[in-house]
Amino acid sequence: MNPAARKKALRYFFQKVVDPLGYKFTPDEELAEFCLEQEVILERRYGVPFCPCKRITANRYEDMQIVCPCIPFHREHFDAMKRCWCGLFVHKDVVDPATLKQVSEKKFRKG
Ligand code: SF4
Repeated sequence: MNPAARKKALRYFFQKVVDPLGYKFTPDEELAEFCLEQEVILERRYGVPFCPCKRITANRYEDMQIVCPCIPFHREHFDAMKRCWCGLFVHKDVVDPATLKQVSEKKFRKG
C-alpha cells in the first residue's frame, strides 16, 4: 500500500478507536498529517504504527504502550491535558488545540 493510502487507512481505523474514548483528530491538519506520515514510516520499519513522539525501547511491554492510538494506556494523563502526547488527538470539545498545554507525565504525576 502506498504511503498516502496507508495514511488514509490509519485515519479511518484510528477514528473508530478514539471516538468512543471521547477524542477526535486535532483540527490542526498540518500536525495531523505530519504525525500520520511519521507513523506510516514507523509502521513500515517496525510493523506497527508506533508513536512518532516517543522513544522505542525494545522492551515489548513498554513499547506496546506507545502504539497509536495509545490513549487507553495514558488515559488520566491525556485527559488532564485534553490531548494525547503528540497532539494528534484532542478531546472532542477542543476547538483551538494551540491553547492546550503539554505537561510531562512526571510533572502530571507529581500534581
Ligand atoms: S501520543 Fe498520540 S500520536 Fe502518539 S501514540 Fe499516543 S495517541 Fe498516537
